[in-house]
Amino acid sequence: ARAVAAGAPITDGALADGTPVPLLANLGNPAGAAEAVALGAEGVGLFRTEFLFLSASSAPTIEQQRVSYAELLAAFAGKKVVVRVLDAGADKPLPFLNDAHEENPALGLRGLRALRASEDILREQLTALAEADQLTKKAGSGADLWVMAPMVSTVDEAAYFTGIAREYGIRTAGVMVEVPSSALMAEQIFAHADFASIGTNDLTQYTLAADRLLGSVAGYQDPWYPAVLRLIREVGAAGARTGKPVGICGEAAADPLLAVVLVGLGATSLSMAPTALADVRATLLTHSLDDAKRVAEAALAATDAATAREAAQTASAS
Ligand code: PEP
Ligand code: MG
Repeated sequence: ARAVAAGAPITDGALADGTPVPLLANLGNPAGAAEAVALGAEGVGLFRTEFLFLSASSAPTIEQQRVSYAELLAAFAGKKVVVRVLDAGADKPLPFLNDAHEENPALGLRGLRALRASEDILREQLTALAEADQLTKKAGSGADLWVMAPMVSTVDEAAYFTGIAREYGIRTAGVMVEVPSSALMAEQIFAHADFASIGTNDLTQYTLAADRLLGSVAGYQDPWYPAVLRLIREVGAAGARTGKPVGICGEAAADPLLAVVLVGLGATSLSMAPTALADVRATLLTHSLDDAKRVAEAALAATDAATAREAAQTASAS
């Protein structure tokens, strides 16, 4: 990788041929915004709103939510901020929203399914987001707000979420692709959604059918599995055909070599923990888009996760 002098200004994410690849931050609290900006985040690719809810015994008020969302938007004034509506259930259970007695919570009423069953919580959250958006715009510190739903598994759910988000004046409404069914139906989902963001943590869990929290099957939680990469390719291709952006916001984007593969598969932006931005930025700068496609092809042709990584490494170095 090309050396970047200490103290040099941080450039925006791009490939060696100049193709821009916006590098965004995953955040769980507006308090992390300043560090993300200092590390060169060009915006927020995943704001997990669960922090507002997880410690509470009931849902936070619209006003409490508005204050937090406005703080986040103002910290990224003029930049893109992708907010995910509440992802409750499975690894993020909420007593007032989830049934603790589900035998398989990862396959249960989680994410958008849970919000649809408690639609008042979704409507309050969209109200707070729309208010925060207007408030910050009026104050001259508005951001480009995008809102997305977690755990969308059908085209009907994509239509439901984007429809309800637009009722509140949300201009850019999209879905997370975290389930193989959504990846396979990406083109039909794009008939409703303005964008997709692939959550590789859950997409890996559901593709390999291995609980992401269970140590005994942790070996399956590896986004290098070519089955996962093939699903990502489906989404990337559908995004290219329909002209819709495809972001990645799972842990996979934080692995520099895998980031090259993801861009080669059609990802148009990458979002990650802010501390991972520098290494990913440096590695992207050493590959052209043609290189990234070649590295992705090498990984796709492998039979398992370990050989996919090796093949990508070899292709990347040649
Ligand atoms: C994912 O599943 O990849 C994701 C980004 O969402 P979370 O990790 O919050 O489930
Ligand atoms: Mg997820």
